[in-house]
This record gives sequence, C-alpha cells and structure tokens, in this order.
Amino acid sequence: MLKCPNCNSKDIGKIGPEQYYCWGCFIELSYKDEMLSLHQVEEDGSLSSLDDLFTDEERKCDGASF
Ligand SMILES: [Zn+2]
Repeated sequence: MLKCPNCNSKDIGKIGPEQYYCWGCFIELSYKDEMLSLHQVEEDGSLSSLDDLFTDEERKCDGASF
C-alpha cells in the first residue's frame, strides 16, 4: 500500500497515470523511475516541488506499493 512520505497517510487517491493525491496533507505525488515526486498545489493551481524536503531514501518506492 502506498504511503505518503510527508504525512504517512495511506489515504492516497489516484488522479492519473502514475499520479496520486494525498488526502492527508493535500499534496500531489507522481511516480517515476522508482522515485516519488511530491508537489504542493498552490491556490492558483500551479505546482511547487517538495522534493528538496525529502531524502532519496524517503522518496524511493519499489512500485509494488501500487
Ligand atoms: Zn500526505
């Protein structure tokens, strides 16, 4: 089961191919090359990356979670 690296919530919804949304902390997660990318959705709808806040280890995901 996919777990949000930011808030550890398992309340993750799928919003597109390899794109997910965390309902725990309202961030967007995308999955590529066995790594999760995290984005915060701003009020104007733009995305700002949160990847800098996490280590590679925290963002790594083997894909079996999905
Ligand atoms: Zn979260």
